[in-house]
Amino acid sequence: MARQLAGQTAIVTGASRGIGRAIVRNLLELGINVVAVARNEYGLERLQEEMRVGKRLLAVACDIRDQLEVERLFEVASDRFGRIEIVVNNAGVGSFAPIEEYDEVMLDEILDTNLKAVFHMCRAAFVHMKRNGGGQVVNIAALLGMETEPFASAYCASKWGVMGLTEALHQEGRPHGIRVAVVAPGTTQTDFAGIPSQQKSQALRPETVAEGVSYLLQQGDDAKMSQLVLR
Ligand code: NAP
Repeated sequence: MARQLAGQTAIVTGASRGIGRAIVRNLLELGINVVAVARNEYGLERLQEEMRVGKRLLAVACDIRDQLEVERLFEVASDRFGRIEIVVNNAGVGSFAPIEEYDEVMLDEILDTNLKAVFHMCRAAFVHMKRNGGGQVVNIAALLGMETEPFASAYCASKWGVMGLTEALHQEGRPHGIRVAVVAPGTTQTDFAGIPSQQKSQALRPETVAEGVSYLLQQGDDAKMSQLVLR
């Protein structure tokens, strides 16, 4: 039987645009309260104006690369809504270039955002969910977390890492009632990595990825689905 999610609360990172914004809209439509996270406050203000759901949407500016900021995020979210049942780790960055062009700053930006920050978020989610009787975590990886292509070395390293992290936590969370899964989308119509969405008319729509997240979240208790691949 499909899980009823209305009244639950979700934290969604990377919520201000692209796939994250579509996920926020979808979860709000399912009756879920949403804590929307991004760094830029202007983007979050625009999201709040657009969604028009009043207090069911809390916007929190947070750089998820900073572990202390992530811990504060969970405090602010649970002060407002109490229990957090769902965490969607969607925020990510990308750049594509020959490996010789990567200096340490470029490499750190990708690994810190796409892998280490997801680790911080999962850690904080596990602390909160173990105390509160379980929950669900969905990480957004990419097809480039399962496949490879030239000039994607740093991005592939980060997203293959997210796939491994998710599988390990899928097993670790199960005895505690914490379900951990990953959505791996192919190219999606957003402005990701500085490539305008208009150049990707054949690609997935952000709404399709958001529906994939909701599909995973609504699976019944017996389902042990850990990966959803969208090509
Ligand atoms: P996007 O349009 O560029 O949006 C990225 C979001 O992440 C923004 O809200 C951004 O807001 C936020 N963000 C970035 N760094 C952050 C940080 N350190 N702390 C908090 N928030 C941060 O990207 P998208 O296309 O929607 O991609 C979303 C996810 O899907 C990413 O993980 C990406 O790797 C994955 N994905 C995308 C595609 C694609 O083709 N678009 C394909 C496969 C997988 P601020 O800049 O304000 O922080």
